[in-house]
Order: sequence, then structure tokens, then C-alpha cells
Amino acid sequence: MQDLVRYARSPGTLIASRFEGPDETICTCCQHARATVSVAGKALCPTCLPAYALDTPRIDEMASLIWLPHVDQGVLSRLALALHAVCAQQGEAIGTATTGPAGHAGAIFAELRAQAGGLIERIGTAQISHLREAARNLSQAPLQRQHVASGIRVLHHGVGLPDEPNSYRHYLNTLKEGSSS
Ligand SMILES: [Zn+2]
Repeated sequence: MQDLVRYARSPGTLIASRFEGPDETICTCCQHARATVSVAGKALCPTCLPAYALDTPRIDEMASLIWLPHVDQGVLSRLALALHAVCAQQGEAIGTATTGPAGHAGAIFAELRAQAGGLIERIGTAQISHLREAARNLSQAPLQRQHVASGIRVLHHGVGLPDEPNSYRHYLNTLKEGSSS
């Protein structure tokens, strides 16, 4: 399982570049979706991207941190993708519908987002842009640090990188087309 605290302490700029490997490469984090980007040598899908590209400008618009110790990052990414895909099917974004499957997906997403509270209690923030500093300030005691690191997850908000916010919506549409063909 990824130790996000140790990762956040690593040197070097963590931003995404286009994945240049074979087309059918699967994301190394969720082991589910096709990899489209690469961060520090890791092949990643658009949903797992913000859990690794910590230095992306305005990343807090794209995703946020929550406390979810019993759910692995890859599993959370699969769940987030499923919720966003359900909304896209109805032509909605997450949280804009109150009824139907998209409304239900929005309620689950809100429940997940509410888990930010547990993390703010522990590290003082739920913003990815603050994670590097928060990780540096965490106790050096390995057990204590490990306890916190074991529960930090990144929840994708269903929007693309800030310089191309519609890209995630386009990505969801390509999945829709893929599943209907
Ligand atoms: Zn992934």
C-alpha cells in the first residue's frame, strides 16, 4: 500500500506527463483503468493521477484528501470512477443531481468527502497542496507516522487538470462509448 506521507516527503517535482508506453498498459495504482499519464515513472489512469501528481498547480480543484484507512487507494479510485461514470451517463456532474442513479452517486460521494474531517483532525488539512508541508511536520516516530500514513487517501472530484477541466468528462465519455460498443 502506498505510504503517502513518505511519498509526500520525497524530493523532486511530482507532476504528470503523457504516458508513452504501450496502449493497453493498466494503471499501477487501481489495476483497473488504462494508463494515460506518468508520474515519477509510474503509469497511472486519470482517476489515480492526483494521488501521485502532488505538485500539479491548483490540484485542490481536482481532488482532495480523506481519511479512509480500510479502503486501499486503488479501490477508492475505482469507486470514484464508478460514481463519476454514473453521473456522466445521466449528463450530470457529481453533486448536481438529487434524484435517480446520479443523485444516489452524489450522496455516496458526499459521504466520502465528509471523511475529510477525520484527516483534518490528524494532520490539519484535507488539501493535497498542503500535504507535503503537513507530512514534513508529522511526528518522526515511525509507528505514529505509519498510523497516519495508513489512512490518507485521495478522492477525485470528477474534473480534469486545471488547465483542461473538461478532460475528465471527455475521459468518462470515452468509457461510455467503449462499454456500449
Ligand atoms: Zn488508476
